[in-house]
Amino acid sequence: MKTMTQVLEETIRAFVEDYLDRISCKGVVGFARFKDVHDSLMPIQKERLERIASEKFDELLDSGSIISFGIAYHDAAIDAINKNSGNETDYELWNFYSKEYDRLNSLLNQTSQAIADRFGGIPVTATLHALSDKINHVTDYYGLTISHRVVAEMAGLGWRGKNGLLINEKFSCAIRFASVITTLPLASPGKTGSLCGTCHACEDACTFIKNREALPDYRENCRRYLIHLQSKGVENEVCGKCIQACYRDSIFNEQFTLE
Ligand code: SF4
Ligand code: SF4
Repeated sequence: MKTMTQVLEETIRAFVEDYLDRISCKGVVGFARFKDVHDSLMPIQKERLERIASEKFDELLDSGSIISFGIAYHDAAIDAINKNSGNETDYELWNFYSKEYDRLNSLLNQTSQAIADRFGGIPVTATLHALSDKINHVTDYYGLTISHRVVAEMAGLGWRGKNGLLINEKFSCAIRFASVITTLPLASPGKTGSLCGTCHACEDACTFIKNREALPDYRENCRRYLIHLQSKGVENEVCGKCIQACYRDSIFNEQFTLE
């Protein structure tokens, strides 16, 4: 006989899968313990989570959960990244990936609100819009949200890759995540260890990743590169080369599937 928790989890999974079907998306859903996520966040994001949880914080820390879900890109978006047209980089095509990034964020925010409306809870939005003019260093981002990658990692939806992204066994890192905080006590499978092994496709694709140990914070080098791409016509602060490398060139390239 199923426990109440199992019934609840099946109901939430079915709701999210059905919702993603209705918006013609593929994705994943899982559950993390609130405390595991809290304990794994950097201090400034712990504070942020505490503020979001507000008066529910003690209850959440004791028995609460975070629903993690992701929506995968289509492979056409990943294949639009860093392609040449003649001898020139095709930034207009690259911008198709950027537009898909925007579209997925909207869908994630819409889905997290639908989950919160159905089951109660606090939706945590997928990304922050229109803030780049207020950001002078990548560390300025850290306190503005909580890491959905940490939530997905604690929900067992993938492993943390050498590129810093969450690598899902089906969708690679070509997937974006959002979260819903809930007082429901859901069971978590816990964190998965890295399966990257000897693979180095993302390091080959990006000098910042390859030299991440030597750089003060390679994510700041990444941020500056994204600003450079914006000046070329890639509208959002995105690049995606390390995602494409993982999906197309990693040791798992025959296992990963997008539509
Ligand atoms: S997004 Fe681009 S610049 Fe940033 S780490 Fe990935 S490949 Fe490197
Ligand atoms: S490209 Fe290879 S090393 Fe990099 S994150 Fe993907 S599986 Fe790991």
